[in-house]
Amino acid sequence: MSLIYQKTLSKKINLTGVGLHSGKKSHLSILPAKEDQGILFKRVDIDKNNLIKASFENVSSAKLCTTLENRYGAKVSTVEHLLAALYIAEIDNAIIEIDNEEVPIMDGSSKDFLKLLKQIGIVDQSKKRKYLKISDHIELVEGKRKISIEPNNSSLEVNFQLDYTNKIIGKQKNTVDFQKDNLKDISNSRTFCLFKDIEKIKKLGLAKGGSLENAIVVDNEKVLNQGGLRNEKEFVNHKILDLAGDFLLSGYRIIGKVICYQGGHELTNLFLRKLFKSNTSFRIIELNDFKISKKFQSQSLEKLAVNA
Ligand SMILES: [Zn+2]
Repeated sequence: MSLIYQKTLSKKINLTGVGLHSGKKSHLSILPAKEDQGILFKRVDIDKNNLIKASFENVSSAKLCTTLENRYGAKVSTVEHLLAALYIAEIDNAIIEIDNEEVPIMDGSSKDFLKLLKQIGIVDQSKKRKYLKISDHIELVEGKRKISIEPNNSSLEVNFQLDYTNKIIGKQKNTVDFQKDNLKDISNSRTFCLFKDIEKIKKLGLAKGGSLENAIVVDNEKVLNQGGLRNEKEFVNHKILDLAGDFLLSGYRIIGKVICYQGGHELTNLFLRKLFKSNTSFRIIELNDFKISKKFQSQSLEKLAVNA
């Protein structure tokens, strides 16, 4: 598979599940789409004005999950883990039909989405993929939270640090290169919350579908899920997964090195808005515009084979 061309999936896939926050069951289909379509959600339970483009400009709320909304008020929420799966599977163009307001949470990670996408296969399209290549450092600071991006030669690299007073999560930190590294631990990492916050979240009318089947719950001294964590850095790895999904809302694959401290959906969205206002910080390129070694391409193929 080439990194030069746009990609879509080879045929339609279907899945069913419950929304983490709404608790509502939905049926979701991912369909192949034409070149330059990007990712488009379609609320099939609504008769008209039901298309919602997966764009950072359509994010209407990013408190505990990312919600997209079109100008007619049609919404779809918790899109981030599905988008992250599309990011990792290298898909650029897809139509996602859904018959309710929230993407199923599945197991709280991107694992199930990715498994289905890999099973049916990804196909190259004839048009070249556009990359957003960072050419200058840009940062956003919101209180103690911080996100920045700087130039990097060939891939999206993310250095993320959490800083929780909770002892189990603590100051977990990881750096991941989305082209060179095996992304299995990233795609398998589940969303998480503190046990003490559950009441508060439920009072907001959220997490109605939440359970130990789809989220890690952390008490003062321990992880409450049977079996514990899936990998040593599952908390920060999940935040990196969220960031990849939210970054796909830029409409491009971003080439740059991200450094993020205590970030989340809201900070990422504000950052993308700032980035696109600053037209001196990036260039839009096609891959033949800059040098990419044969070795790099074969590493990428290897990565997909390992994840399959
Ligand atoms: Zn998440």
